[in-house]
Amino acid sequence: MLKFLLPLLAVFLVSCAPAAKDAPRAERSFFAMDTYISMTACGDGADAALAEVQERIHAAERRLSVTLPDSEIHRLNAAGDADVSPETADLLRFALSMSDETDGAFHPALYPVLTAWGFTTPTQRVPSDEEIAALLPLTDLSRISVTGNHVTLTPGTELDFGAIAKGAAGEDAIQFLKSRGIPSALVNLGGNVQTLGARPDGSPWRVGLASPWGAEYLGLLESKDEAIVTSGSYQRFFEADGKKYHHILDPASGRPAESGLVSATVVTQNGARTDALSTALFVMGAEKAAGFWRRKRNFDFLLITTGKEILITAPLAKRFRLADEFQNLKVTVVK
Ligand code: AMP
Ligand code: MG
Repeated sequence: MLKFLLPLLAVFLVSCAPAAKDAPRAERSFFAMDTYISMTACGDGADAALAEVQERIHAAERRLSVTLPDSEIHRLNAAGDADVSPETADLLRFALSMSDETDGAFHPALYPVLTAWGFTTPTQRVPSDEEIAALLPLTDLSRISVTGNHVTLTPGTELDFGAIAKGAAGEDAIQFLKSRGIPSALVNLGGNVQTLGARPDGSPWRVGLASPWGAEYLGLLESKDEAIVTSGSYQRFFEADGKKYHHILDPASGRPAESGLVSATVVTQNGARTDALSTALFVMGAEKAAGFWRRKRNFDFLLITTGKEILITAPLAKRFRLADEFQNLKVTVVK
């Protein structure tokens, strides 16, 4: 059976701060995009704005879901050729650029391999080496072409925005709330967290990063105006013959990535980018991820290794505090 643990990040202190308790505050939670979503916004018009955000998230799911029969992606995968909405075409271009930037670690066309493992289907299984070898050529990105809003896939190739859709929806939510003049908000799409501004009293939001080892949270991150996304092998997996198989595939092998990480948390200003990078860093593993960060320095990460070591970039370490029960973990600050 597929295990699916939620929430992936716990969020604490999400209510509007006492100092600004007169500011209108709205909260909303619901299920969409295969996950539990909760949102808090503070400011005039917060309630109506969150109602609209909920509709926008449902609309994003209807466009991007790989399983909903009427979604744009589902129809495109079935037909191999389709006009899609400008939003979907833009997201595809962005996904292809993220694949390029991460040297293929983020890869939006693994769906044929993912379904061979049974992810997104009721029954999971371990495909044979031959089966994987036969499917891998279908994932070549040269088989995708996008011109304006028209997308063509070479037969057998299928897109999957599972590693980017929630981040893109979170980014859209924040941009929409901003356009409605909301100064302070936090949205959490099953562990894809985005903060808008600070809490109304000016203090940062405090986001609890889930512990991969159980109920307690790993630590608290102080956050303003950014996205925080975690990809982890513990989030979705199945067991066969005493071995665990998780849902993040190494595009090179077509198998669950065994990069020595349990989770990769990424922080940047943009939700879709953060989501893509968290998946990519998980595939890269600690060493490559650190090298990638040193070249870019336009995002931050917190990685947890299978050996229970934490690697955290220096800027992030300044505003992250491990929970008391995890103070004994080895922490390496990456500079
Ligand atoms: P995330 O939880 O954001 O890391 O996304 C994982 C989901 O993205 C999986 O459930 C698959 O649908 C898809 N996926 C798996 N491996 C990859 C990969 N290497 N690159 C992009 N998407 C992937
Ligand atoms: Mg992701």
